[in-house]
Amino acid sequence: MIRLHDSLTRSPRELAPAQPDGVFRFYNCGPTVYAAAHIGNFRTFLVNDLLRRLLELEFGPGRVLHVRNITDVDDKTIRRAREEGRPLGDVTRQWTEKFHADCAALNMLPPHHEPRATGRIADQVDMINSLLAKGHAYTASDGSVYFKISSFPDYGALSRVRERELKRGVSGAPAGAADADEKEDGTDFALWKAAKPDDGPNRWSGPRGAAEGRPGWHIECSAMSRALLGPTLDLHTGGVDLLFPHHENEIAQSQCCNGVTFSRHWYHSEHLLVDGRKMSKSLGNLYTLDQLRGMGHPPAVLRYALLAGHPRKQLNFTLGSLHAAGKALATLRNYRARLAERPAAANAPAAAERTPFDAVLGHLRDDLNTPAALGALFTIAAEKPASASLGEFDRVIGVFGFDLSEPEPRQAAAIPDEIRRLAGLRWAAKQSKNFAEADRLRAEIAAAGWTMLDAKADYTLVPKK
Ligand code: AMP
Ligand code: ZN
Repeated sequence: MIRLHDSLTRSPRELAPAQPDGVFRFYNCGPTVYAAAHIGNFRTFLVNDLLRRLLELEFGPGRVLHVRNITDVDDKTIRRAREEGRPLGDVTRQWTEKFHADCAALNMLPPHHEPRATGRIADQVDMINSLLAKGHAYTASDGSVYFKISSFPDYGALSRVRERELKRGVSGAPAGAADADEKEDGTDFALWKAAKPDDGPNRWSGPRGAAEGRPGWHIECSAMSRALLGPTLDLHTGGVDLLFPHHENEIAQSQCCNGVTFSRHWYHSEHLLVDGRKMSKSLGNLYTLDQLRGMGHPPAVLRYALLAGHPRKQLNFTLGSLHAAGKALATLRNYRARLAERPAAANAPAAAERTPFDAVLGHLRDDLNTPAALGALFTIAAEKPASASLGEFDRVIGVFGFDLSEPEPRQAAAIPDEIRRLAGLRWAAKQSKNFAEADRLRAEIAAAGWTMLDAKADYTLVPKK
């Protein structure tokens, strides 16, 4: 039995499929594709990958249906395409491919379906039409369509937003929300956004009575999960920042449209921090997989480091945590080699029902307690002589998705002498508070394709993303 914290009831609850076919329906919100995902995003996606593997162990490999969407139209993707003078589809294809490559490098299982928002406009328009017909939505004077929050008394159940009070009333005027993502806002939210000149050719014909435009962000998850998994999900997940308003709005749309519970279980994992602050594009404090690879850290090590912290606690990222993760993987690799060296008989599956690894899996089944599970795993790995069987060890490692093959050779690109020289000059300028010169040198280094990452006492040079 897997027990997982449920954000709606705020308590751990057992996970189980509801449908008689025994298939567990699992949806998680995917990336917005306009740049490389950062390793904070990957913390969330890796926790979901761990969950997927654990669910398959529990219910059987063919008994989990996993859907993760790709947000390929929104303000950010459109802005990026406009800035680069490229068609939206080109930009989002590029970053979707990059996302897939990073996921593969991190040994993540691909979801069974990965719908793109622009690939399923009709499903979204259908849902908006139903909401209009049922009186849960209205068309504004510019041809945008809004969800009427006051028509759904349960609004706020997930985030307890009513306790915090909806900031600007719950209904009425759309308050200019049409050009924002409404992420911070508790007012009526856009289901459909009438096209603006900046949107260029990225417009579709809309719901009945609405203008040409594009879907709002929240509706894609409601519509695409319904199309691929049905009206009720067994589990819906995402990072904590999606709890409000994104998931609250998904619940409102889906339940008003379908008249049944949208998701039977909600799970939100916590953020990755850098120096105590959320890793995010807007703060500019992010690392990408490529940057870390450039510094010689293989993706398998990053996977370990990001899964080592409890998923429901914030995790502060440091380069030191990567060194520790590399050592931990080496210990597991050596332990496996010791098991593999033994005569075959010693590795026969244990006759007993219980294996030493039950404790490890027990911790994972107890609200995905990865630190406790890894603690138990290392207790086993420290045993001499080893008592476990190779097959059982591999099965548990498979749930973590750790790749124990020899690490890829250091990929750190050789830093050209000239770049080292400029970096030295810039560091000296910065130390002597000659910031204008330091900035000029930073730009020169950047133009040559390198980034200086400053720490307190020294710096690192990494190839520019
Ligand atoms: P986005 O591409 O912005 O839609 O985000 C993709 C996923 O990454 C969402 O589930 C977010 O909750 C999650 N996310 C964003 N920033 C972080 C962070 N610093 N740590 C962990 N997860 C994050
Ligand atoms: Zn979503």
